[in-house]
Amino acid sequence: MTVEAHKETLEFKAEVSQVLDLVISSLYSNKEIFLRELISNASDAAEKLRFESLTDEELLEEEPNLRVRVLLDKDAGTITVSDNGIGLSRQEAIDTVGSIASSGTRQFAEALMAARGEADSAEAKGGEAGGDALIGRFGVGFYSAYIVADKVTLLSRRAGLTSEHGVRWESDGRGSYTLETVEKPTRGTDVILHLKEDEKEFLDAWRLRSIIGKFSDHIAIPVEMAKEELGDEDDEEKQADKAPEFEQVNKGTALWMRSKSELSDDDYKGFYKHISHDFEEPLAWVHNRVEGTNEYTALLYLPKRAPWDLWDREQKHGVKLYVKRVFIMDEADKLLPHWLRFVKGVVDSDDLPLNVSREILQHNRKIDTIRGANVKRVLGLLESLAKDEPEQYQTFWDEFGRVLKEGPAEDFQNRERIGGLMRFASTHNDDDTQSVALDAYIERMKEGQKDIYYITADSPAAARHSPHLEVFRKKGVEVLLLSDRVDEWLVSHLHEYKGKHLQSVTKGKLDLGDLADKEDQEKAEQAEKEHEDLLKRLKDSLGERVQEVRVSTRLVDSPACIVVGEHDMSANLARVLKAVGQDAPDMKPTLEVNLDHPLVKRLEAESNQSKFDDLGMILFDQAQLAEGGQLDDPAAFVGRLNKLMMNMFMSGA
Ligand code: ADP
Repeated sequence: MTVEAHKETLEFKAEVSQVLDLVISSLYSNKEIFLRELISNASDAAEKLRFESLTDEELLEEEPNLRVRVLLDKDAGTITVSDNGIGLSRQEAIDTVGSIASSGTRQFAEALMAARGEADSAEAKGGEAGGDALIGRFGVGFYSAYIVADKVTLLSRRAGLTSEHGVRWESDGRGSYTLETVEKPTRGTDVILHLKEDEKEFLDAWRLRSIIGKFSDHIAIPVEMAKEELGDEDDEEKQADKAPEFEQVNKGTALWMRSKSELSDDDYKGFYKHISHDFEEPLAWVHNRVEGTNEYTALLYLPKRAPWDLWDREQKHGVKLYVKRVFIMDEADKLLPHWLRFVKGVVDSDDLPLNVSREILQHNRKIDTIRGANVKRVLGLLESLAKDEPEQYQTFWDEFGRVLKEGPAEDFQNRERIGGLMRFASTHNDDDTQSVALDAYIERMKEGQKDIYYITADSPAAARHSPHLEVFRKKGVEVLLLSDRVDEWLVSHLHEYKGKHLQSVTKGKLDLGDLADKEDQEKAEQAEKEHEDLLKRLKDSLGERVQEVRVSTRLVDSPACIVVGEHDMSANLARVLKAVGQDAPDMKPTLEVNLDHPLVKRLEAESNQSKFDDLGMILFDQAQLAEGGQLDDPAAFVGRLNKLMMNMFMSGA
């Protein structure tokens, strides 16, 4: 019985062929990964079937032994990766293989092109940089087939559907593909690669076997090849009418169940690539077996590079859950908190029920315990990396620091430990890399310094050049420079570290504690009285724009600066909120003036009220600008400035 084959030609989702070109040329030096990617997909499909068959045994049909086969056909010039896993329905084929990493495709193409631009100019300078590293950020998976093939045919049948509901997908990867309903007696998927003329070297069983050994030894599903191809069979057994025999060519045991002493770094790295689809090696990993009432194994990895969708709200978590070696689910987001979403790995529990669902995971004591322990494991891993391999840690921080900064707000209990892992830019260094630990800051604190000082601004330059830092520079006191968006969120939850208060230098009256010169302080108080007149006149000119005008103890070179109350939202946070379309309270800042500054002295002597008002406004506006703030009425500011310049020219100055 055959169903009428309904054949159609469909277009790929946008940019696919462009991305393919880029992928193929970028991966050219690493062609053999196509096999790893396809075997990885095949084994995922087998694991998904095993999981679904827990509740629907019929899905296994007459073939309960899950496996992946790699087949060669020298005459046809093809390699086939065949699995008896979950398979694809016609619609699933359109939705998955027809749309590669659908949402990421465009970002991928753009990022890759940008990287290539850099590579080209680096080459011109005799240096080297590549798009290769970028591939790892995107799951190119299935499409890596086109590195070696000029045509790919995929034959599949979804487990549970009858044999006339097979689907045949075929494409040369150039913009469109055909889709046909076909008869497929066996469940699962065959991916047939029609090798390019100059890639025929892969039609060698031993070559393939060694690639499988290198990349796919430790996936839990057996990978088989025909004995005949491997030359293990006697010639007389080689009869055309005899079904070929297969032998397993990978170890096929779950890597995480083996003991640490048996495993080499390469084993761990290979397995990481399998579970993460990352093209690069992991930065570090931690592997634990826990015995007792809640028995489980956890193998957790830190990637070297952030995936492109790290900031996507929908971004998938990277930890897979297994129960007694049976794959249960990807992206088990209950196994680690959101602020550790970059960690990849496997947790395999002996004590959870096999029919565990996402709902059950929500409120499960055992899962909570595993999660808490996982957090401690990752923190421990990061701490030892920071201590023993500071350069590696810096790599980690540059990629994932902004995610880790979400930690103190989400995890009260581990706040201090997370604080110890933070790295910031600082006035101690000349460049803007985030490399200063709070512990290092504390060690450098001045005699009599109580607090850890920081400034938040919307760029590293705005932070570094803020007038608020003048007095700190003069006294040689270090200030941390915070300019990531998440920093405001961080400091609103990390108030203290090792008993030291974290103090913003832009808030409240500056209390330098024992650092302050008693004389300075007294002088300021005295000045406040002596110049009462000036302060009052300025307040009158500025009216509702300011809360107060007072004498500054923070300034050295600048005439004025803006300060908010100790418990007010910082001006920077208000800007961040407005930028993302949220409401921020309209705040009335305080204007602080530097009495030693010639401009302020000149202002004090101004008797013409309208000139005084103009100068006062300019002082206020430029104090806002100096902090990276925006003016309510920039045109008015420019008008006043022009007037001032005209007066200057007319008076012949
Ligand atoms: P990724 O694996 O990163 O999602 P791929 O491009 O490798 O990206 O694959 C896209 C999707 O196609 C997979 O998520 C899966 O749903 C489907 N797929 C690929 N290979 C197979 C297979 N052998 N069996 C069943 N589904 C598959």
